[in-house]
Amino acid sequence: MLRGNPDIGVYNALPRGCELCRLGGKLVVYITGECGDNCYYCPVSTERFGKDVMYANEAEVKSLYDFIYEAYRMNAAGAGITGGDPILAIGRLTKLIRLFKDEFSSDFHVHLYTSGRYVTNDVLRELERVGLDEIRFHPVKEDYLKAVEKALKFRFDVGIEVPSIPHEKEFLERIVEWGVKKGVKFININELELTERNYQSLNVQGYRVSHGLTGVKGSAELALSLLRKYESKNVALHYCSSVYKDVVETRTRFLRIIKYSAKPYENGTPEGTIVRAIVKSNSDLSDIGEKIGEGMWSISPDFSSHFSEVVLVEEHPDQRRLRITEKLINSKT
Ligand code: SF4
Repeated sequence: MLRGNPDIGVYNALPRGCELCRLGGKLVVYITGECGDNCYYCPVSTERFGKDVMYANEAEVKSLYDFIYEAYRMNAAGAGITGGDPILAIGRLTKLIRLFKDEFSSDFHVHLYTSGRYVTNDVLRELERVGLDEIRFHPVKEDYLKAVEKALKFRFDVGIEVPSIPHEKEFLERIVEWGVKKGVKFININELELTERNYQSLNVQGYRVSHGLTGVKGSAELALSLLRKYESKNVALHYCSSVYKDVVETRTRFLRIIKYSAKPYENGTPEGTIVRAIVKSNSDLSDIGEKIGEGMWSISPDFSSHFSEVVLVEEHPDQRRLRITEKLINSKT
């Protein structure tokens, strides 16, 4: 029986990687932006796509140990490794999976996204050896299903994860039917998203936003019709909306970062942001905050009434500290 909210996500069983993501427990690992494909709907940003860069959650990193540090900051229960195509960085990919398992135990759940283009038996053997738990294929072409078939002979869970593209209904149906016949563990169908990089090519095809902030018109409807059509088949089908990624996955991950690494003077909000106050003072305020510059202190908003001029800032809690609002409060006015 299908469960969930059609505006957010509908499923009949969730893969382990999705369960942990829903709880905000997955570190998002971007291992490389390089990819042999160039899909017109690719959501990866211009700063990342085609470049050999790494990101831990939202922050660019230079070393594999930065991923371990970020995993500690959020007390991660696992990691989802994406790209580009991570297989193009197979050396550091396998090294990182091994690092995770050695540092946090074999229970630290690692899932991986790939198109399958570069997946060979040797690659799969290496991934199994280092302890990969789950592999998700995005078969851009039907030819890439050969890689999925190879993966089914290994110990990790094998699934398919594809965007729901309204004019590719027949292709999607063939992929789902293939997956059902071959016995993949799950099939995730994601709402197609308009992003800064893909909106022009999607607009040319006639696609417009309709669902949430970024969901493409007709994408959710197609995904839900496929879930209903294949509901009785022996496969775990799941639809994930763009709203879900934002409202649930990112927010719960931010709440988790706040819980485990916010400073004592930073107040968390239910939206997954932090609020702090910036004040000028020549006194030592280290009991209620932290010095951030000459005569400048970051303190808890709870003490702001003691100061004549306060700047209240609201930020994302990840390492980028993206500022959402900044408000000057002058208690003398
Ligand atoms: S395979 Fe994935 S990362 Fe590569 S171009 Fe297509 S959508 Fe983008």
